[in-house]
Amino acid sequence: MSAAHAGGATVAELRRVSVVLGRGEGRVAALNRIDLQVAEGQILAVVGESGAGKSTLARSFLRLVAPEGGAVLLEGADITAMPERRLRRLRGRMTMVFRSPGDVLNPRMTARELIEEPLRLHAPRGTDRRAEVDAVATRLGLTPAELVLRPGELSPSRMQLVGLGRAIVTKPRLLVLDEPSRDLDAAAAADLLALLAGLREDGMAIVVTSDDIANVQPVADRIAVLYLGEVVEEGATADLLRDPLHPYTQSMLSAHLPADPSRRGRRIRLRGDPPQPEDRTPGCGFAPRCPIAESRCRSGAPTPNQVGTDRRVACLRVLEGTSRIPLSR
Ligand code: SF4
Repeated sequence: MSAAHAGGATVAELRRVSVVLGRGEGRVAALNRIDLQVAEGQILAVVGESGAGKSTLARSFLRLVAPEGGAVLLEGADITAMPERRLRRLRGRMTMVFRSPGDVLNPRMTARELIEEPLRLHAPRGTDRRAEVDAVATRLGLTPAELVLRPGELSPSRMQLVGLGRAIVTKPRLLVLDEPSRDLDAAAAADLLALLAGLREDGMAIVVTSDDIANVQPVADRIAVLYLGEVVEEGATADLLRDPLHPYTQSMLSAHLPADPSRRGRRIRLRGDPPQPEDRTPGCGFAPRCPIAESRCRSGAPTPNQVGTDRRVACLRVLEGTSRIPLSR
């Protein structure tokens, strides 16, 4: 289990969650024994390359995929095996902003209708839905003129805001966003981060995925690094950026955020392409690309080790203090 978080109560939790996707001979392990939790008023960023399992992990928090093993909890209640009929009642308390909102928003509905729709399903009788939509639109900076437009008439960044409006209009306890910055320009992405920071102040627990750590680290309280369906490192953002301990985190940060001046300008280049789950070899999943892999790494799979009080790292060398890639390499 992940380390206790400072701050509010845990809102959502994945406990040793494993997910297998596909059928028959095409079955692949998409997630392997994931332990993660997010607390009220906290933003957890999940970062990793394409194929790491970010979308599956995001959906697992809302039980939009059924885990093969482990448990999914929302506000302490185990929802792993909850029937869909009962889950539906919780859908206003845990919401998601999907990747590429243009693919999921009904093209025939206006922005106002799209934002209002979840209220029809989840708001108490007597709710002034029009006023609620107006309040959300004001918060997001959507104008009255935009509220009468349909998705096809909006830019990708405004469409993203409509998706976010749908997700927050029911005032959820858990908000999950899957690569929300992917189709946004730099200014729109920065605006989105500011909105997320505001929602955190309201006490929302937020999970956001990204393939680029630089896109999410400005607002993340904690970062989980995902590689081949496993969390290889997880910790408080400032600690993880200051001293990344897993070799994969080190390579990722060397490409984006050379926080340590002694490493500035030095990029750790990995061998090979990002792997897909079906390419997994025995032992440590990162071994084929790890610059400091040893023979034991190809036979023994590391499990997450607690390092200090608040970090977990899945590397066979971390407890020996030898998981940092030497600068001379
Ligand atoms: S266990 Fe071995 S291969 Fe895996 S990250 Fe650590 S050093 Fe690299």
